[in-house]
Amino acid sequence: MTSVLLPSSAAEAAALYGDGSNVTVIAGGTIVMPTLAGGRTLPGKALVLTRAGLAGITRSGPRTTIGATTRVQELVGLADPLGGCAANVADGEIRAQGTVGGNIRAGAGADAPRGDLQSAFLALDAVVRSTGAGGERTEPLEQFLDADQRLLLDVSFEEPAAGAFAAIEYPHTHAYTVLAVSGCRAQDGTIRLAATGLAGHGARLRSAEALASDPVAAGVAALDDVAFADDAVASSWYRTKTLPVLVRRVLTQLEESA
Ligand SMILES: Cc1cc2nc3c(=O)[nH]c(=O)nc-3n(C[C@H](O)[C@H](O)[C@H](O)COP(=O)(O)OP(=O)(O)OC[C@H]3O[C@@H](n4cnc5c(N)ncnc54)[C@H](O)[C@@H]3O)c2cc1C
Repeated sequence: MTSVLLPSSAAEAAALYGDGSNVTVIAGGTIVMPTLAGGRTLPGKALVLTRAGLAGITRSGPRTTIGATTRVQELVGLADPLGGCAANVADGEIRAQGTVGGNIRAGAGADAPRGDLQSAFLALDAVVRSTGAGGERTEPLEQFLDADQRLLLDVSFEEPAAGAFAAIEYPHTHAYTVLAVSGCRAQDGTIRLAATGLAGHGARLRSAEALASDPVAAGVAALDDVAFADDAVASSWYRTKTLPVLVRRVLTQLEESA
């Protein structure tokens, strides 16, 4: 029998989540609800975040903070890479339901990549505030993606000087993103690049970043930073051929915005 927990504040959500044992978090539910409805998961506790007060976008000086239950659709229209990346997630119906925290925590899909927002947030060098075993902590998204399951509270970043986003568009992927690259030029001129559509979660493209002044060489170097999988929307061969193109496009966009 599953207990349904419906916290009405972030503090209550954190207390109910505890160390996360036997808890399934439900945010927008676009991934987790079908698995529950189909009986593929039967959690001891279902923590429903809808009323936990974790939604919203706030700005303080150069820093933007986005609450975990902010809908993906609310990011559409923000500056690239985040705005363009969000607009590329699924369709309007899913974006209006799916949340930022659920997207970051989507986990690898068996048939198609998920967690598209990871590339934008990685390129933005975002940090994640979370709670779970050991209490609350803030850490780089890159580290958070490798951590055990924790309750994501919010994600924040410093506005870059420029941002860019490019993705492979396929009409027959039912709105899933085959492969995408996000890029930023930070206020100090540092270039950061990241991709999704990989085997596992999104990743920084550090070999490409090191060659950012030469977009063609950077595109080829990016292949050293990633591993691909074959899935229902594309083969790893196709992704190998197209990643260099996306890296080149993003770097060219960043150059043009200088
Ligand atoms: C037709 C279709 C197309 C889609 N296309 C895309 C696409 O193009 N790109 C893409 O990235 N995704 C896509 N998705 C997957 C999904 O809809 C999105 O990733 C969405 O943003 C997930 O958010 P959610 O709030 O609905 O997640 P949920 O289903 O609520 O949760 C997803 C996972 O994250 C965990 N979780 C949720 N919130 C938190 C939190 N705050 N802290 C810790 N764990 C949490 C849940 O326990 C669960 O394991 C698609 C889905 C469908 C059905």
